[in-house]
Amino acid sequence: MTLAKRIRRILVEEPAQDYPMTERVLARLPGVPVTVIPQREVLRPLEHQRSSWLPESKTTLLLAVQKGPFRRPCPGTKDYICCGYQVLQVALNCTMDCTYCVLQSYVNIPAVTVFVNVADLFQELEQECNAAPDRVWRVGTGEFGDSLALDELVGINEELIPFFAGNPRAVLEIKTKWRRLEHLLHLGPNSQVIFAWSLNPEEIVREEEKFAAPLKARLQAAAQAAAAGFRLAFHFDPIVYFPGWEEAYRHTVGLLGERIPPASIAWISLGALRFLPAQRRLILERFPSSRIAAQEMVRAPDGKLRYFKGLRQELYCRLREWLAEAAPGALVYLCMESPRLWDAVFGFHPGEEELARRLDARALNLPAPTD
Ligand code: SF4
Repeated sequence: MTLAKRIRRILVEEPAQDYPMTERVLARLPGVPVTVIPQREVLRPLEHQRSSWLPESKTTLLLAVQKGPFRRPCPGTKDYICCGYQVLQVALNCTMDCTYCVLQSYVNIPAVTVFVNVADLFQELEQECNAAPDRVWRVGTGEFGDSLALDELVGINEELIPFFAGNPRAVLEIKTKWRRLEHLLHLGPNSQVIFAWSLNPEEIVREEEKFAAPLKARLQAAAQAAAAGFRLAFHFDPIVYFPGWEEAYRHTVGLLGERIPPASIAWISLGALRFLPAQRRLILERFPSSRIAAQEMVRAPDGKLRYFKGLRQELYCRLREWLAEAAPGALVYLCMESPRLWDAVFGFHPGEEELARRLDARALNLPAPTD
């Protein structure tokens, strides 16, 4: 199944009508009802009724024009070490429906929005790369949605991948929980592009990651990307605590080791489950049988609910130990964690600039900085 089949309705902003991507999407979804709207702001639903309109937002596609900048720094949080990632906002929201997805609290339009003015994106990137030619641009499209979920429909990666091939200090991370990438394989080899999969044990995939690809299908897609000459990354994020977690995550890491050549892995991140307190109610309303909101959590300095420090430390230490065996040489780091947790897991904590430098060096395939 392609996720495009989930689309039941298309909305097109008036200014978005004449773009090639709009024409392409409409041609690829014949028979799906289309409505033209003056601008997306007319769709703003009621904030306090999120659980009633979120399901529909997953099957409605909005083609819109990005009016602000496409690139933004990843919204890091005070007191937590951020990796200096840059986000390209090419879409907002996702046709998959993970119980823990933070976008549920941020989306304010009842649709999966795709921005069609890709030429403006390339112009913006060109200008920024030219203005700071020594800077490393480590960017990704998977922060506000899934980078591959609708790619066969919108076709943006077929344009992005060649752009990054031509910019030696720019690296694109295509982050996904999806499986279909055959249409992109002919664009490899390209070491400037890193395909990244978010991984979880099969029971979490089944129960908490609705419509996402099964674990083995993700690993199979990753192996295909590596064979085509792309580099890979993996994100154990969110790591979910549940009875039997140890065996389940150990098995998941084992599958990764069996199926993926370690030399193709640029980095692996670890991040335990976290979300804003208001999201707990939303999860309980939308997914009453989910185990996500059941575990005891504490409010952390960034305002998010997190597992207790001791539990996070245990999760990270065990995964780090198994990954050292399964993916030797991969750069393993913690995503948005406190210096204290870094110290407990790795025996040191990098400054934000240092972590960014290490990842930049990996991105460009350079030796790791020593300072
Ligand atoms: S795949 Fe990612 S963006 Fe999509 S619903 Fe799941 S967590 Fe959210």
